[in-house]
Amino acid sequence: MNAVGKYYDGMRANSHAVVITLTSYKLVIEDRENGIKLSWEFSDITLIESPEFGSAFSLSNKTRPAERLIIADLDLYKALIIQIPLANKPLVRVNITKSRGCLLVALFISLMIVYAWVLPQFSSQIARVFPSSWAKYIGERHVETYEEKGLVCKNTDGIESLNKIIKRIVPKEHRDKINVQIVTEDTVNAYIVPGGHVVIFSALLDEAESPEEIAGILAHEVGHHLENHPVQALIERVGVAVILSGMEMNLLNFKYSRDKEVKADRIAISLLDEARVSKRGLIGFLKRNSGSIFDNKIVNYLSTHPANEERISSLVVSNTVNKPTPILSKSEWIQLKQICSKPGV
Ligand SMILES: [Zn+2]
Repeated sequence: MNAVGKYYDGMRANSHAVVITLTSYKLVIEDRENGIKLSWEFSDITLIESPEFGSAFSLSNKTRPAERLIIADLDLYKALIIQIPLANKPLVRVNITKSRGCLLVALFISLMIVYAWVLPQFSSQIARVFPSSWAKYIGERHVETYEEKGLVCKNTDGIESLNKIIKRIVPKEHRDKINVQIVTEDTVNAYIVPGGHVVIFSALLDEAESPEEIAGILAHEVGHHLENHPVQALIERVGVAVILSGMEMNLLNFKYSRDKEVKADRIAISLLDEARVSKRGLIGFLKRNSGSIFDNKIVNYLSTHPANEERISSLVVSNTVNKPTPILSKSEWIQLKQICSKPGV
């Protein structure tokens, strides 16, 4: 049995148009144009959304948690639903009668109010009591997806240079809580997820003109971590219910408010000052990438970290106390630039 659907690889916002084939023990997902062919075994498939709520249903895979498959084919749904394990199906099967339908609409509206108003209001309080072990687990699962795909850059000399930057920027008491990965990805972006995991895409490293730019970007992400912004964003965007359900979440495109960006910048400046690293790196990167010289590659970093003039000017006028010294030697910088080349550790 065949159907067409949309496949999200968990890395990019765009979907792939795929042909899905139901065999006796798995789904085969194919995007022939882009050479993608995946097999999802029934035992790994989880039903995220059933078609009762609309014409399409969505699925995820326990072994590839960031990925999603959306299919609008009821025949395939009926054939598939009897194959996947009971534990992988929603706990409540909804049979909509008229009165239940009204109740559901009311429940949905209430939930929307909670999501739209209550969660943003109290996210910082909820984040404060959010167990750090959960945050760590959620973040680890996110970065594991890069590891599983072999995208984490591991050139030994490059890692050494990266560690040197981390050691200099991240205060000792937080160092074991910050984990930085450079990942092969052709979008210019860097972000931090709950649990202190910073992800820097290789395209951003390629764009960077000095190690101080990478240090500045890292200091800014650490600023978000120290203010608990990733957990707050998780609660605001995803909701506690989804977190508790253990469902995989897309942590890639969390966008922070201007206030949060300014707070992260302030912390970045104090970290850079403390480490005697020039703030010109961070300013230079933002300036260079916030004007007309932007190309499409840069859009992702800006959409998650709006670099408006105000933000740049407040960085420029911020006091720098210590006289900066270079963070890496020329050869260490070259090694960092080559972190995605083999051999790995
Ligand atoms: Zn930011």
